[in-house]
Amino acid sequence: MMIGTENHIPQILIVDDDPHLLLTLGEILKVKGFEPLLVQTGGAALTYIEQQPIDVVLIDLKLGDMSGLDVLRGIKASSPESECIMLTGNASQASAIESIQMGAFGYFQKPFDIDQVVLSVQRAVDKYRSTLALRASEEKYRMVADFTYDWEGWRTPDGTYVYISPSCERITGHSAEEFLSDPNLFLEIIHPNDRAMVIEHNDLVARLPNEQDLQIAFRIITASGETRWIEHSCTSVHGYGGQWLGRRESNRDITTRKQAEETQRESEERFRLAFEYTHIGMCLVDLKGQFLKVNPQLCEMFGYSSAQLEGRLVDEITHPDHQKAYPSFLQQSISGDMSHTEFEALYIHKNGSLVWGQVSSSLVQDAAGAPLYFINHIQDVTARKQTERELIITKESLEEANRELQTALVREQKLSHTDSLTGINNRRYLFELAENQIAIASRYQQPLAVMMFDIDHFKQVNDTFGHDVGDQMLRRVAQIACAELRSADVIGRYGGEEFIVLMPMTNAQQACLLGERIRAGVAALHVLSEKGDTSTTLSIGIVEISHAPRSHSKSVEDVFRSADKAMYSAKQAGRNRVVAIPSQ
Ligand code: GH3
Ligand code: MG
Ligand code: MG
Repeated sequence: MMIGTENHIPQILIVDDDPHLLLTLGEILKVKGFEPLLVQTGGAALTYIEQQPIDVVLIDLKLGDMSGLDVLRGIKASSPESECIMLTGNASQASAIESIQMGAFGYFQKPFDIDQVVLSVQRAVDKYRSTLALRASEEKYRMVADFTYDWEGWRTPDGTYVYISPSCERITGHSAEEFLSDPNLFLEIIHPNDRAMVIEHNDLVARLPNEQDLQIAFRIITASGETRWIEHSCTSVHGYGGQWLGRRESNRDITTRKQAEETQRESEERFRLAFEYTHIGMCLVDLKGQFLKVNPQLCEMFGYSSAQLEGRLVDEITHPDHQKAYPSFLQQSISGDMSHTEFEALYIHKNGSLVWGQVSSSLVQDAAGAPLYFINHIQDVTARKQTERELIITKESLEEANRELQTALVREQKLSHTDSLTGINNRRYLFELAENQIAIASRYQQPLAVMMFDIDHFKQVNDTFGHDVGDQMLRRVAQIACAELRSADVIGRYGGEEFIVLMPMTNAQQACLLGERIRAGVAALHVLSEKGDTSTTLSIGIVEISHAPRSHSKSVEDVFRSADKAMYSAKQAGRNRVVAIPSQ
């Protein structure tokens, strides 16, 4: 179909059997900027119109070959867009009205005012152009809209649908034909709860038909009874010439999006409820370590309102020893080591008291893995920590008491083993140690030397210099002997001024060398007293215990008796000497 353009000269076909009138009208219209085409018969006019589009046809009602009404009918049949203006020779009101009913643009009675005719021709041309533009636009729109995914529609200025795209069937289950034939169908399929809103929208469009880009979202019930969400947008449409062509609307199925939004809303709501009503403190903390959002329990835990906390650094209410938790956690999270952590931190309540928090912190990331914020649960464990602290203190004091007991016990043990005058093993313990040494030597078939020594004429020392000097002498003798011993050797006080030394893994010969050193040491000793210097000597007896294979180990008493015998021999031999007797 040819489309009228701006620079196209309007073609006016004049059909009149009066050649004079034909020429006159032609001349005038030419002057006025139209292109007149002149024919004298109805037949010629119909032939013409079949060959090329004509903007406006001026038709004489009474022609030689046929009636002007027949010409009008023929033209409307082959070129419905062309506008026709009737010219009547005599007052034939009935024919004029009939022509209007058949689609004529207007009529004039001869003799007519030529200016009126020209004006009417101009208006008819405008209408023809506008009709063509509308058709062309409709056509273009249809070509696009037939293939759109969305459900498209076009309403003419009077509000009736002239076009509905086939996609309406995919979305609503109703065909385009159903919508076109039933103007109420659109409103009928709207969900009852949304219908009032859609009616209000339609009223708005009716009041402000030129409003651009109006949008609403509503639900429809499809032919199969399913509920779907539709996003409706409509806008005013104008032709190239500025004439208003109605409104174009587009309906998009947004059910999936709405469902996703609903799911999102629900999950946000669930989170909000969990956040608000949990019995432990919760907060969102941004990557700088600031509170983004806090729940009522957290506020109560720290004594602040949410407004006082949100936007503040967590560190501002954290004890100095526990700050900087988030930057390091973020660092670890970025390096991929962890996205969840648990720690205990000490906070400061608004009233200055300390609050222990058991923190469980997770880093929330976006789909691409970029960190967004932390979500934290903080449980007030102050009471537990206090109990723990008390337990630790109790434990520490118990341990301290225990240590003291231990020391006392050791001291006590040492005391019970020690001779108070000389500081060496006492007689009772000496027997115990001797029994051990003899058993070990017997078990491993190792030699054990036993030495007994006695201070010579000690009675005299006491008698001459006093008991205190005697005591001092006893201590010095013990010190001299101890200085000569090896760590494995054992010394003990056997009686008043008698001592015993046990020398494991030592034979009689080696023991004699040691005995000789002790003897010499004591012989060189001088004890100073008020009554002058005093000195003394030792008589030393030594036995070596050897064991016959598989024999029973000797008793302590037997061993000490042998040593005593050796020592007695030393006395007999003149004192201040060492005597060893052969092993027994
Ligand atoms: P001998 O050469 O034969 O051994 O002559 P002795 O005088 O040493 O022997 P005796 O057995 O006659 O005397 C031992 C004396 O040792 C008697 C006692 O007063 C004294 N004595 C015993 N124990 C202690 C003590 O703990 N302190 C003091 N000062 N003297 C003691
Ligand atoms: Mg003596
Ligand atoms: Mg004695």
